[in-house]
Amino acid sequence: MDDIPIDSPIAPAFAGRHNSGIGRQSIARGRRMILWGTSKRVLDFDLSEREYCQQCRQDQDFGLRLKYEHGHFYHLFGWVMSKQYQLVCPDCTHGWVVNPRAAEALIGRNPIPFYQRHGWLVMLALAAIIGVAVLAHQPAG
Ligand SMILES: [Zn+2]
Repeated sequence: MDDIPIDSPIAPAFAGRHNSGIGRQSIARGRRMILWGTSKRVLDFDLSEREYCQQCRQDQDFGLRLKYEHGHFYHLFGWVMSKQYQLVCPDCTHGWVVNPRAAEALIGRNPIPFYQRHGWLVMLALAAIIGVAVLAHQPAG
């Protein structure tokens, strides 16, 4: 009695979901659903450099910040799509792009959380483990 007719119409799963989050998408196939998306973030640091701002025509404390974009599965298994370190004037937001090595040396670490950078490796490892387990438990012959 619980059987679903094969020719039953597919529920409009996507209706009304497009205004939630930027770039988030979902793929629904039957009951399976893979949730992935992209997130843009800006990280500020307690690091600044006194420089002359041509826009403001005076010296300003340019703050270091990191703008980056990462993709993810289920908000957990991530990878970095783009990143840019910037020195930004606090008044006019005019500034420069900074060499990432120099910026990370100054910060002392890579400020992007591990799961946002290498989460996809964790997912790959889990998939491999599950794959091996499935193969190992198949009946011989
Ligand atoms: Zn300025």
